[in-house]
Amino acid sequence: MATPTAMDACNYCGAPGALKCGRCHAACYCSRDHQRLDSGDHRDLCKNYTSVSSPDLGEHLAATCLILPGNLIFSENPILVGPVAYSDLICLGCHSAITEEDFSKCPDCKWPVCSKVCANSKSHWAECDVLAKDELGIGIPQHIGQTPRYDLIMLLRGLLLKETDPKSWKVLMAMQSHKEIWKKDNDPFHAAAVKYFTEVCKCGFDEDEIHHVRGVIMTNCMVFKSDKGTSLRALYPQFRLFNHSCIPNIHISSNSDGEITARAAVTIQKNEQLCISYTGTMEPLWQRQKYLSEIYKFQCQCKRCSDPTEFGTYFSSPRCPDCRRSFMLPSGNGSINWWICETCGLRYELIDVLQEVSDWLNRIDMSDFIGKRTVKQLNKDVDRMHDSFHPLHYVPLQFTQNLLREIKGENYVTFKLRQEIWENHLEICDKLEPGLTRRRGMVLFNLGATINGVVKSGIAEKEIYLPRVPSLLQEAKLFLLEAQRIFQLEPKTSRERHWLYSITSVYDEIEAMERSCQEGTEHLE
Ligand SMILES: [Zn+2]
Ligand SMILES: [Zn+2]
Ligand SMILES: [Zn+2]
Ligand SMILES: [Zn+2]
Ligand SMILES: [Zn+2]
Ligand SMILES: [Zn+2]
Repeated sequence: MATPTAMDACNYCGAPGALKCGRCHAACYCSRDHQRLDSGDHRDLCKNYTSVSSPDLGEHLAATCLILPGNLIFSENPILVGPVAYSDLICLGCHSAITEEDFSKCPDCKWPVCSKVCANSKSHWAECDVLAKDELGIGIPQHIGQTPRYDLIMLLRGLLLKETDPKSWKVLMAMQSHKEIWKKDNDPFHAAAVKYFTEVCKCGFDEDEIHHVRGVIMTNCMVFKSDKGTSLRALYPQFRLFNHSCIPNIHISSNSDGEITARAAVTIQKNEQLCISYTGTMEPLWQRQKYLSEIYKFQCQCKRCSDPTEFGTYFSSPRCPDCRRSFMLPSGNGSINWWICETCGLRYELIDVLQEVSDWLNRIDMSDFIGKRTVKQLNKDVDRMHDSFHPLHYVPLQFTQNLLREIKGENYVTFKLRQEIWENHLEICDKLEPGLTRRRGMVLFNLGATINGVVKSGIAEKEIYLPRVPSLLQEAKLFLLEAQRIFQLEPKTSRERHWLYSITSVYDEIEAMERSCQEGTEHLE
């Protein structure tokens, strides 16, 4: 048995120290003062992760120590920023949205910009020379509305790094691109983009490098909101090293410059892989699998995909139509072609599962469906849906998300319905996107605010049992505090920080209500 070791030496003065750096758990200090004095030197050495390679997982990141929820993994700036592939018109200089029908065009390349200043800006001049070679205007967006042509801009900016920023080019060239698969698959968008730079805007780009750069962009980008409110995508040196899991343990946030911050969403054990989700965590199994194989060229075998019940949510499984006692589960070994009822053995093909889901989604998608129904009827609709699906299934989630958007009315029954829905969404989040994640933060905030609404309307309409009020308000405050903890981790200049104001204002309102309830009872005494 190990005997207690002597205290390690303080990183700053060498004296024995018992304090450990909270992030890397490696550096020791004799006092907080010495930790502070050492912080400049320690910053570059302080890491709680490392990059490792394995034959089945490829190059990826893993924890080098126990990492707690909210702990910083790293922050980094992009090496490449550009519009998303399908973008509304956007200025190539400043990335503002262009909304006027008679928009300005760059005098040289004729792409939409917001002014001459932007046409001459540093971020546009290099690409302008190349784009100007498209004399027939094949790639140039002509009208307001979404256009897939912005795909070309990010690709071009990537190709130009070779000349303008050799260091970033080297990083880009080392990234995973699956270019052989892209070439072989004959993807029409991929082929058109390559052709544009080999045949239309001929600038001597190497065809193989074009395949590589587009593949890298498709596989490694992250989308963020710019300070102009437009969606942009960016490429990062380290971010790409996160592997994928449909139940990620890392939460990524970005500020309006595109700088990203990666933090632990949940407790991560030493040596555990650090994972983000490349696809939506609230997508059903077949959609996640399709997206991951089409874009990222692999079949997901994460913990969630390997559990046919998806952690007991039955998120993708319909109820068995024969025995009604169990759910149809994917038949295992990673295949989703056959679905089987555990109880009666009924077999479904994937197409039957998809049919059932799309029937329901079509029914609830009718935009006037919700508006015409009373709250009582809507409550029944939710119950009826639970006859066909588990309460944590994807279809009821879609329906209740629509419901939250559509139901009007600030009265007790509507607040009660909303409360039930938010509680249900929290349960889903806790299973599929747990920990300190933005989605969970939003749900917690909405749940807290809704309970506040339940109490207020309940008192006004004399619907609520008054002795229940203090515990309900206490519960709402706990949800809000947890939401606050999550949003405080967002970068200072991110849009998400604004949620903190809303959280505080509901919290203050609840405390005021608690005070007035207390005064009310004191008066009664
Ligand atoms: Zn010291
Ligand atoms: Zn450290
Ligand atoms: Zn502009
Ligand atoms: Zn131009
Ligand atoms: Zn998965
Ligand atoms: Zn059955």
